[in-house]
Amino acid sequence: MKNQASCLCGSLQWEITAEPFNAFNCHCKLCRKAHGSAFATYWFVKPEQFNWLSGTDTIVRYRSSHLLTRSFCGVCGSVVPYPSEQGNHWLAPGGCHEDGKKSDCHVFAAHSAPWYDITGDLPQHDDYPEFTGMQRVEEKPLEPGSEGIVRGSCMCGAVKFHISEPFKLVQNCHCHRCRKARSAAHATNGFTSIDGVKFVQGEDNLGNYKVPDAKYFMQVFCKTCGSKMPRLDPGRGIAVIPFGALDDDPHVKPARHIYVGDMAKWYEITDDLPVFREEPTS
Ligand SMILES: [Zn+2]
Ligand SMILES: [Zn+2]
Ligand SMILES: [Zn+2]
Repeated sequence: MKNQASCLCGSLQWEITAEPFNAFNCHCKLCRKAHGSAFATYWFVKPEQFNWLSGTDTIVRYRSSHLLTRSFCGVCGSVVPYPSEQGNHWLAPGGCHEDGKKSDCHVFAAHSAPWYDITGDLPQHDDYPEFTGMQRVEEKPLEPGSEGIVRGSCMCGAVKFHISEPFKLVQNCHCHRCRKARSAAHATNGFTSIDGVKFVQGEDNLGNYKVPDAKYFMQVFCKTCGSKMPRLDPGRGIAVIPFGALDDDPHVKPARHIYVGDMAKWYEITDDLPVFREEPTS
């Protein structure tokens, strides 16, 4: 069995040669920021079951905790596979792998975003389950926003932003591009007016990658840690906010799933939000 994949820009390509022996959805704050989504899905394979099919020059590494150094593509910002100190490879299948193992459980469920409800029957662990060999990580819960400002930041703290306008819409997008960009089952994005977003720190540390054949699609990320950051779209007068970047509770939740026609085969929707095969035109 060979399961091949690439990052959003195609610079990094890899394969796994065995079915992952574990898979989980992680709801921790660092995964939310790294992926800009409600949670990240990770697969685990042995080092000998993983091969790079490309050069690895564009990989940027960021040590997000004493146990884990994460990796992303410095060109497009996609999270790419990385070895853990337990010797196994962590892979975020996201849009990179279309088919493969479904998650066995939710981890860091106790830390999940206040704007996301975990549904379905999978077991939920408060933090790392034992099989990972990882130690417990302390996390502060998100705080309520103050004075109408919702704050957001990247993992490394270089980039910080404030949102001062209400979100017009929050949705989970399952399209191929969002999945590859976020390396997650789906993106969770909030939309607000372009004047409602202000970078208060580190705007010059943002990288961006526009998909060549896309009209609008652009990924914006912190060049140091790869966290997904707001994208300002002057053409449409909107700002697209990766919800995983938020530090405050925005008091609004995703309203629907879109592009479920493109959904990864290893993912299942278990909530009862409306689903649309593509994007509704309303
Ligand atoms: Zn790339
Ligand atoms: Zn995590
Ligand atoms: Zn950063």
